[in-house]
Amino acid sequence: MNYEAFMSSKLEELRDEGNYRVFADLERRRGSFPKATCHSLEGGPGDVTVWCSNDYLGMGQNPAVLAAMKDAIDRCGAGAGGTRNISGTNHFHVELETELADLHGKDSALIFTSGYVSNWASLGTLASRIPNCVVLSDAGNHASMIEGIRHSRAEKQVFKHNDTEDLNRRLSALDPGQPKIVAFESVYSMDGDIAPIKEFCDVAEAHGAMTYLDEVHAVGLYGPRGGGVAEREGLMDRLTVIEGTLGKAFGVLGGYIAASTTLCDFVRSFASGFIFTTALPPAVAAGAITSIRHLKTSDAERLAQHERVRRLRERLDHFGIPHMRNESHIVPVMVGDPVKCKWITDWLLENAGIYVQPINYPTVPRGTERLRLTPSPLHTDGDIEQLVDALNQLWSQCALSRAVA
Ligand SMILES: *Cc1c(COP(=O)(O)O)cnc(C)c1O
Repeated sequence: MNYEAFMSSKLEELRDEGNYRVFADLERRRGSFPKATCHSLEGGPGDVTVWCSNDYLGMGQNPAVLAAMKDAIDRCGAGAGGTRNISGTNHFHVELETELADLHGKDSALIFTSGYVSNWASLGTLASRIPNCVVLSDAGNHASMIEGIRHSRAEKQVFKHNDTEDLNRRLSALDPGQPKIVAFESVYSMDGDIAPIKEFCDVAEAHGAMTYLDEVHAVGLYGPRGGGVAEREGLMDRLTVIEGTLGKAFGVLGGYIAASTTLCDFVRSFASGFIFTTALPPAVAAGAITSIRHLKTSDAERLAQHERVRRLRERLDHFGIPHMRNESHIVPVMVGDPVKCKWITDWLLENAGIYVQPINYPTVPRGTERLRLTPSPLHTDGDIEQLVDALNQLWSQCALSRAVA
């Protein structure tokens, strides 16, 4: 086989569909977030405003977080020095797990090198090690959960997205004695919609199923202490496992589960994706601890973010730019065509200094291509006006449909 020719032809197919991904070469600038220097502009490096960051609250440049990271480097050096099992467990890891268990009102927590790995390893281990386990997985679940379940080789049933009745029907049809895990997210990343957590817990409990909740897009952002949507709704104690990331609202890197001591110990002891990989650098753990502690007591960032989201939605409405209604901080502006979506984002970057990554298949279904906007507390009125003016111009130029006010 001509391997190179095969790979080139596959890449060519992606280009033809408008689904080939090009990364913007950015240099984030501490102190002026959400501004960055873009190194991949046609005319040479220039300033851009970032509208698609998952550093939702700007914690990635919080002075206390940075100071904690620098201090930890000075005290502990660069890397962890090994896997947790062999020489890699640092006091900052232990402290971070205590902080996370407290955040979610659980007895224990276990950290991983990313949120992806935490889902993959935890679901993979639970579903494969619990005999005859069946996983009920929401149709909108993230790739990391899907891959973890697939890797477990356990039986899987996909229930309709956020549909309590479909979940109930499927659970009712299973043997009452069969072990079951119901896996879902709180805030869905692409549509920004929120799961009926209480109803799912009711149904799961009635059928003796464990519940596994991915709060990646909610931790730090919802609840009085940033514990997520389950905290806001007083439901944390009803979930068997709460999974989260340290890389989005907390602004650093890493993932975790919070659960009972026995469950965390079980995953710690059996998960390949935990055991055989080098632990997070101590400085990363130290930064995460400071970020979590800050957001446990400070509401200012959350309130400012919600206000910015409202403001952006109002201004989009003013120009009839269609965006998906939801109750979260994610503002999906619908384009519905992969080639136009890519063209619009290229134009915004080159002509308006606005960086929004196009969201195309397979991240979202074909025909629902979009711009996924994530307003932060640090986007100014001026940033918002610049964005909606540019979108307004593009909507006319590309003959895209307007929302009826
Ligand atoms: C981003 C994401 C993850 C993975 O988290 P990382 O820390 O980025 O690896 C898991 N679940 C969902 C829903 C996500 O969007």
